[in-house]
Amino acid sequence: MINQALGNLFIVAAPSGAGKSSLIAALLEYSAQNKLSNPAQLSVSHTTRAPREGEVNAKHYHFTSIEDFEALIEQDAFYEYAKVFGNYYGTSKEAISDKLSQGIDVFLDIDWQGARQIKAVNPDVVSIFILPPSIESLRERLIGRGKDSSDVIDKRMQEAVSEMSHYKEFDYLVVNDDFEQALSDFVSIVNGQSLKANKQQARHAELLASLTGK
Ligand code: GDP
Ligand code: ADP
Ligand code: 5GP
Repeated sequence: MINQALGNLFIVAAPSGAGKSSLIAALLEYSAQNKLSNPAQLSVSHTTRAPREGEVNAKHYHFTSIEDFEALIEQDAFYEYAKVFGNYYGTSKEAISDKLSQGIDVFLDIDWQGARQIKAVNPDVVSIFILPPSIESLRERLIGRGKDSSDVIDKRMQEAVSEMSHYKEFDYLVVNDDFEQALSDFVSIVNGQSLKANKQQARHAELLASLTGK
C-alpha cells in the first residue's frame, strides 16, 4: 500500500497520440506557476525502447538495457511493469516513494496493463483516460508529431483500438479535441482530489480544531 496522506497518485493513460504527454506537460507547467492545489511531478518510468530525438535520460525515461531491466524485475524494484509495443516499461518504487508523503501529486503515464497492477495494490489511485476526438485525428497527430516511422505508427494505430476498449476501467474520461478545454477538464479532476474531505482534514487540522473545538 502506498502512503497517500496528502499527495494524490494519478494514472494517465491513452492510446498513443491522444495528447497525453502534451496534457501532462501543460499540467506540470501550471504546477511550476503554483496554479494547482498541490505541486505535481511526473513519475519517470524505465523503458527498454531507444530514446527518441530530443528525449533526455532520467527526464523523459530512465533508458535501460533489457538485461538491466530484467535484473530490476528480479530485485522487485517495480510497482508495475508491462511489455508495450514489444518493449518493457515500468514504474520503479523509487519514482513514487517519498513524493506523496510530501504532499506532491504524482502522475504515472502508463498503459492499461500497468494501471491494473497499480490499482490492485493501491485502490486510492485516481485514473484518467485521454481519448482522441476520432481515429483519423489520432493518426494525423501521430504523423504530425513526426517522431515515429510509418511502421511504428501503423503498429500504434493497431494497438489504439484495443487500448481504448479499456476505457471503462478508468475513473475519468477526457476527450482531447480542443486542447484548452481538455486541459481545463484535466486540471478540474486534479484539483478536485485535493479538496476531498480527508485531504483537507490533513491540510487544515489546526483550522478544523479551532472551528469545532475538537
Ligand atoms: P506515447 O504513447 O507517445 O506516450 O509513447 P511512449 O513511448 O512514451 O509510451 C508508450 C506506452 O507505454 C504508453 O502507453 C505509456 O502509457 C506506457 N508506459 C510508459 N511508462 C509506463 C510505465 O512505467 N508503466 C507502464 N505500465 N506503462 C508505461
Ligand atoms: P501521446 O503522449 O498521447 O502519445 P502527444 O502529447 O505526444 O500524445 O500528442 C501527439 C501529437 O498531437 C503532438 O504532436 C501534439 O502536439 C498533438 N496534439 C495534442 N493535443 C492536441 C489537440 N487537442 N489538437 C491537436 N493536436 C494535438
Ligand atoms: P512511448 O514509447 O510512446 O514513450 O510509450 C508507449 C506506451 O508505453 C505509452 O502508452 C506509455 O503510456 C506506456 N508506458 C510508458 N511508461 C510506462 C511504464 O512505466 N509502465 C507501463 N506499463 N507503461 C508505460
